[in-house]
Formats: sequence, structure tokens, C-alpha cells
Amino acid sequence: MTERTFSIIKPDATRRNLTGKVNAVIEDAGLRIVAQRRIHMSRAQAEKFYEVHAERPFFGELVDFMISAPVVVQVLEGDNAVARYREVMGATNPAQAADGTIRKLFAESVGENSVHGSDSQENAALEIVQFFTDADIVG
Ligand code: GDP
Repeated sequence: MTERTFSIIKPDATRRNLTGKVNAVIEDAGLRIVAQRRIHMSRAQAEKFYEVHAERPFFGELVDFMISAPVVVQVLEGDNAVARYREVMGATNPAQAADGTIRKLFAESVGENSVHGSDSQENAALEIVQFFTDADIVG
């Protein structure tokens, strides 16, 4: 089933000029980038985006990291896009990520792990509307 997911290319990747390399892995996996914008997140935006992790010990570090440099927010479209992108990203900790995944190829640590991808269709919809309007998405 064709669906959409929300992706972020995180500061560790934009800082190392890896946007194009990450996008190549995404496109080679059969996912289409149907919206994309480079932004510098505000602290309020990052805190809202990660509010489900607010009680976790790494929350402050995570927010500081996400606002430390520009990010690229994206909407990806494809067959089973949510699950497919989670596969393409690889495990949260790059040490455990499978060969060929974005995190195995590029991530620096469990925190600075190059990409975000929604973990469910419900969260994908909630995340997309935080950064895009319908008019921004051209499928
Ligand atoms: P994801 O769905 O694979 O991104 O993983 P989670 O939802 O568990 O965590 C969200 C994000 O929080 C991860 O992608 C990391 O950037 C960050 N994170 C997770 N665990 C840790 C940790 O132990 N330390 C730090 N600094 N960041 C973490």
C-alpha cells in the first residue's frame, strides 16, 4: 500500500555534507522524496517534536543536538513507506545497524545517528503536519 512517512536528516549528517548521500540511499530503496526543506529547528520545535521522550535522561542532549545545525525535513512516499524507511535507516544504535543501512553507513553514535523516521502511520501523520502543509507535498 502506498503511504507516507516523515524523515529528518539530522545535524551530524548535514554538518558533514551528507544530504545527497543519504537521499541516494532513500531513493535507491524505492522511496520517493515528495517534500523536502532545510531548516534550523527552534528549541520549541525540537522539544515538541520529541515530547514523547521528555522524561528520558537523554532528552536535553537530544534537543541540544537537533538544534545544533540545520536539518532537512522530508516526506517520503512509497509502498509501506513507514516500515520500509525504518529498514533503510537501520537500528537506532549504529553499532547494531545492518550493512547498507543509513545508520551503518553514516551514523556517529546512538544519539548522533543521522536520520529520524516515523515509527507508525499515526505518528507519521502527526509529524508531517508539524513541518509541512498539504500544498508543500507534491506526490
Ligand atoms: P529511533 O526511533 O530509532 O530514532 O529511536 P528512539 O525513538 O528510541 O530515540 C529517538 C532518538 O533519540 C534517537 O534516534 C537518538 O537520536 C536519540 N537517542 C536514543 N537513545 C539515546 C541515548 O541513549 N543517548 C542519546 N544521547 N540519544 C539517544
